Amino acid sequence: MTKKVSSINPYNEKVINVYNLDTPSKIKSKLELADEVFIKWKEKEIIERTTLLSKVSNLLEKRIDYLSELITLEMGKPINESIAEINKCIFLCNFYAVNAETFLADDIIETDANESFISYDPLGVILAIMPWNYPFWQVFRFAVPTLTSGNTVLLKHASNVSGCAIAIQEIFEDAGYPKGCFQILLTDHKVIGNLLKDDIIKAVSLTGSEKAGRHIAKIAGENLKKSVLELGGNNACIVLDDANLDAYLDIMVKSRMQNTGQSCIAAKRFIVTKGIYDEFIGKFTKKVKNLKFGNPIEKHTEIATMAREDLALKLEKQVNDAIAKGAKVIMGNKRDKAYFAPTILTKVTEDMTVFNEETFGPVAPIFKVNNLEEGLKLATNSKFGLGTMLFTENIEDARRVISKIPDGAFFINEMVKSDPRLPFGGTNASGFGRELSLEGIREFVNIKTVYIN
Ligand code: NAP
Repeated sequence: MTKKVSSINPYNEKVINVYNLDTPSKIKSKLELADEVFIKWKEKEIIERTTLLSKVSNLLEKRIDYLSELITLEMGKPINESIAEINKCIFLCNFYAVNAETFLADDIIETDANESFISYDPLGVILAIMPWNYPFWQVFRFAVPTLTSGNTVLLKHASNVSGCAIAIQEIFEDAGYPKGCFQILLTDHKVIGNLLKDDIIKAVSLTGSEKAGRHIAKIAGENLKKSVLELGGNNACIVLDDANLDAYLDIMVKSRMQNTGQSCIAAKRFIVTKGIYDEFIGKFTKKVKNLKFGNPIEKHTEIATMAREDLALKLEKQVNDAIAKGAKVIMGNKRDKAYFAPTILTKVTEDMTVFNEETFGPVAPIFKVNNLEEGLKLATNSKFGLGTMLFTENIEDARRVISKIPDGAFFINEMVKSDPRLPFGGTNASGFGRELSLEGIREFVNIKTVYIN
């Protein structure tokens, strides 16, 4: 019997669509096609590839209503955020359409040779394994630079967003990419693990949980394949006595609550100095209480159900662990199927799972500290290393902290966010490698030294 996977609207539990999983022979033919197409695709002039990117950008613009609705129906994000996600993909396409040629041009290096330079050649077929939380953005930020540098792509998307996966393949094909440049695989974990062992696959990029990252990195390592891993985060948001709450509180709330808290780079631990602690709690709680819950398809909705019931259940367990160990619930802590009420916790300690593990939902644990040094100690006490935020009016003091942050990003008076112009990635349990900017487009290339005498 053919195996199937369903897309279910988490807000009303309606089945949106049911998809047949690919048979082994279909997967094999996709793999072979990706390899065949690579031979011609890599020979194209860069200008041909960047022209296609502009076409992708135009198609995203034309289809934005349909695509954003699809995102919202499949994984439940408020519609305005889905629209913003598609717009961000457009910005990304335009960015690489303009800059890819420069990023991939030979770099001349003066040596003893008559001529020596570095060239950036594509590797071949790259496997992508992507999550549901930003079902377009995560795929685009990997696929756009990877295709533009001359590779072909096979994507295994998260199983709850198969409709988005299909829509993404259609966009690349309708834009004029040769058939086989970008293909999706509708399949399960075991198949993916085995596929990675195939000689045709040259490298893998996974965005997802630490658990999936460790599993895929192990197979990649055993088979000597390069991997880029964009994994979980437990970002600290340090708020100092002199922080300008009037200017930045909305950003702090957004940093935790956008996408109903389901963001890798969300602020997951608020660390607040004692002089501003009470004011912060009061104002932060008021703003969170005012977030409009509702059907995510409606434009006024600001926070919705989580993407799946099992995710809400996991979050509930983490909050219960904190309560059992002495945390105080300021608001929230109610669950109904995939709904988890925005929750604020105080009296949080380092032995609680809400401190040690990633909370992937609308939960804000708040810590009180005496000063910046204490705040930094707490902030850096994490196995993750995606990013840290610091809110203060003293930028000079904040600058002195830069070298003390072991993460992939440090944002002062702003939430940690990705931007096509800046590299993005983590350290330690948040993974390795970088996406976006120049660094991202050079992840899946052979950095080749050429020496001519
Ligand atoms: P997940 O459960 O790890 O799934 C991510 C992807 O990996 C899905 O396509 C999933 O497929 C697949 N997968 C999981 N285990 C696998 C295995 N053993 N073999 C092959 N494929 C496997 O993560 P998620 O719940 O979708 O996403 C949330 C996580 O992603 C959070 O930890 C979040 O912080 C992280 N994330 C990180 C970034 C970043 O840039 N660092 C960005 C977004 C999200 P199925 O759907 O079929 O299970």
